[in-house]
Amino acid sequence: MHVEINGNELILMTGDLTKQQADAIVNAANGTLMGGGGVDGAIHRAAGPKLLNECQQIRKHQLKGEYLPTGEVVITKGYDLPAKYVIHTVGPIWSQSKSNQDELLAKCYRNSLQLALDKELTSIAFPSISTGAYRFPIELAATIAIRTIIDFLKSHPFGQVVMTLFSEEDYAVYVQAYRNIIG
Ligand code: ADP
Repeated sequence: MHVEINGNELILMTGDLTKQQADAIVNAANGTLMGGGGVDGAIHRAAGPKLLNECQQIRKHQLKGEYLPTGEVVITKGYDLPAKYVIHTVGPIWSQSKSNQDELLAKCYRNSLQLALDKELTSIAFPSISTGAYRFPIELAATIAIRTIIDFLKSHPFGQVVMTLFSEEDYAVYVQAYRNIIG
């Protein structure tokens, strides 16, 4: 599905994020930045070992040995990926009792888009952050993702934003979330 928002393009599609030819793809990483399962593992495998080296340097210097906090972002090169850059963010781990996880998930999308804009990138592709191992309910995650992307595109000239869903089921949920928001 393709829609135009304030001169920008929003695309919802099924596909493999590691194959996307965007200026940047977004990694649903964990705070260690040392790779993991799911889309994170797939990105590290496709990018090659230099990606891990750069992530280690970022942990050491930019983050002074600390973990990347939830909702925050860092950028690396894409190495063997078709994408030029990888923006790494950490989604919230779903829990019934936490109150700020919606805002933290929105921050992942907003901070990724703002960093891409600051770097003068004009296309970015996201996975469905937090809806795999981090167990965020996908209907809620989709609503937050789409609303945050639309709000950003309404107020910034950016370019192209692609939500890359890994299954037809996930794609259908994101399309429905878009329809509910647009009304
Ligand atoms: P998180 O820990 O943030 O939940 P996961 O990687 O476990 O991240 O899952 C996030 C989403 O990414 C899930 O919907 C999963 O199916 C999807 N995913 C896994 N591999 C890929 C891929 N290669 N391209 C796009 N999406 C993927």
